[in-house]
Amino acid sequence: MVVTGGAGFLGSWLCRELLERGQRVLSVDDHSTGRSQNLAELADHPRFRARPGDVCEGVDVDEPVAAIYHLASPASPPAYQRLAVETLRVGSLGTFAALELARATGARFVLASTSEVYGDPLQHPQTESYWGNVNPVGPRSMYDEAKRFAEAVTATYRRVHAVNAGIVRIFNTYGPRMDPRDGRVVPTFIGQALRGEPMTVAGDGSQTRSLCHARDTVRALAEMGASDHPGPVNVGNPCEVSVRDLATEIACLVGVEPDVHFVDLPVDDPRVRCPDVALAARVLGWQPQTTRADGLRETIEWYRAEGFG
Ligand code: NAD
Ligand code: UDP
Repeated sequence: MVVTGGAGFLGSWLCRELLERGQRVLSVDDHSTGRSQNLAELADHPRFRARPGDVCEGVDVDEPVAAIYHLASPASPPAYQRLAVETLRVGSLGTFAALELARATGARFVLASTSEVYGDPLQHPQTESYWGNVNPVGPRSMYDEAKRFAEAVTATYRRVHAVNAGIVRIFNTYGPRMDPRDGRVVPTFIGQALRGEPMTVAGDGSQTRSLCHARDTVRALAEMGASDHPGPVNVGNPCEVSVRDLATEIACLVGVEPDVHFVDLPVDDPRVRCPDVALAARVLGWQPQTTRADGLRETIEWYRAEGFG
């Protein structure tokens, strides 16, 4: 199994999931947003290897490959805006390179796409048949359009080159090992609550997200790797929450009074987001199992233990 982006938050969860399933795993990562600590405890695992490298330069593996999970890409809004050109490159050239490896080896290919392909959605909840409402030139476009292009390349390689490729659209995922400084809402709010700082709620906080624990998300990715389904398949937890209520929940779980500081809503910030996961249930036999309260409690404990407070 090859995992591009294996040193990242989700990649490191996926490497562990695949190892637990008895697989041999190679991670390829350029460490642009990933952290080597994410894989530190796997360093001596007999079925695991990590290789530094930029996927855009090509991925050569001189042994049989059963599946490729293409996760390499900056994923948090501050990271993909800072690494804007790199994000476009890895979504395009990186996806071509990973698909070429699948073509050469006959491996199953799974693209980690995103709910961002729906943009600021006009359909709610989002089903896979919805084509989205994306600003192609806005401040999120380097990520949204790179992923939309990656989906198009993946679907085309399946059609033209008969690569056994499938697309998963991942909705907001959180959990231990998520970079505490990457700016996404869960690590930001937890860090602020643990430090006793005001929680920076964007806009009036009425925009919604639906948060899935990483353990659930990577189980779906592994199931997608084991299936022949082309997707796209939504993967996420349909339990929706407003950002303002999320701040209150996290403050309560940390054990502090909610202290909210309202900041500007980023341009093109989606107003709502919630997956319809009926397809994942039907074709992958998958549904999320971790409740938000349990998942947030576990994540808060991890940040506390790591001293990120
Ligand atoms: P992350 O930033 O923690 O991980 C991404 C990894 O990709 C990092 O380790 C980074 O160093 C690596 N990478 C980036 N460019 C690379 C390149 N050119 N070559 C090799 N490695 C490269 O982010 P994450 O949250 O773990 O996201 C992983 C994937 O899942 C991304 O493709 C992201 O778009 C997708 N996704 C994540 C979420 C989520 O909520 N976490 C939601 C939707 C989609
Ligand atoms: N958000 C917030 N405060 C923060 C970080 C994010 O209110 O400090 C909001 C953000 O504007 C968005 C939601 O939380 O409405 C989720 O943001 P995130 O960056 O986690 O992911 P997105 O779903 O926007 O890609």
